[in-house]
Amino acid sequence: MTDGAEEQGTARGICATLRTALIRAARDTAGLVVPIVCPCGVEGTIPCARCAASLAVAPRRVEAVCSALQVLTAADARGGTADFSPLLPVLALGEHTGDLRRLVLAWKNGGQLCLARPFGRALAPALGRLAAGAGTAVGTGTAAVAGTGGEGGVAGLALVPVPSSLAHRLRRGEDHTAMLAAEIAREAGGEVVRALALGGGTQAGKGARERRAGRRDRMRVRRAGREPRQAVLVDDVVTTGATLRGARDALLAHGWSVHGALVLAAARVPGGAVEVPGTGAADEGVRNLGRR
Ligand SMILES: [Zn+2]
Repeated sequence: MTDGAEEQGTARGICATLRTALIRAARDTAGLVVPIVCPCGVEGTIPCARCAASLAVAPRRVEAVCSALQVLTAADARGGTADFSPLLPVLALGEHTGDLRRLVLAWKNGGQLCLARPFGRALAPALGRLAAGAGTAVGTGTAAVAGTGGEGGVAGLALVPVPSSLAHRLRRGEDHTAMLAAEIAREAGGEVVRALALGGGTQAGKGARERRAGRRDRMRVRRAGREPRQAVLVDDVVTTGATLRGARDALLAHGWSVHGALVLAAARVPGGAVEVPGTGAADEGVRNLGRR
């Protein structure tokens, strides 16, 4: 081997070693900068297999335990009895505790925006149930063609995200409910319509209960919502249902129909067995409520 060839070989060897070292360093650095850790602490994917399994549930009806959604339908003063019925069906993935709560908080406050996709996928079948209750055509129309399945596309339904305050949006950097609505629409069809906004007025100096009531009262219909549609509301967590009621009332005042709400989690869930979608009395209840 000539001196020149030897030098060339040595240079190639140094380059290869340097390249390997750089790739290893880049890989290690990437691991440090973007650790892939599920909110539950398990490394690997977000969500991890166990948390993903916690999302693989049939959405369940929760409106019966939302006090602000109940209306008096019959009263017997002599008998001292009263019947209450919920204003609209609300379907949730489960109770706002444990794995589900951790996932929701990681998405809302922890910057784990990638969770919107599995959330949307999990709630998509519930949109089909509400659409069936609303008497909306299922499996027809352009939205249905664009939709990928679940219980069929949902033509003509507007998915209306419940707005969060500007302060929340600025702090979190995203409009989470709109993002969730978009993911549900991607899976099941329907169209996201940002029909609602929060009105003016300040919430400063008010207690939590007053702020919730204020959020309900301040809901107004935006220009995008002036054309009445058939709507399904989308929100992250339901507690008393006051916010959903405010959203529903604002839309109804502008001629909309509201056929229900989809939420990730509920502060409380009714006792009893988890419902199986597409069958049984639960869906009969959805149909009846949808006509109100
Ligand atoms: Zn996990």
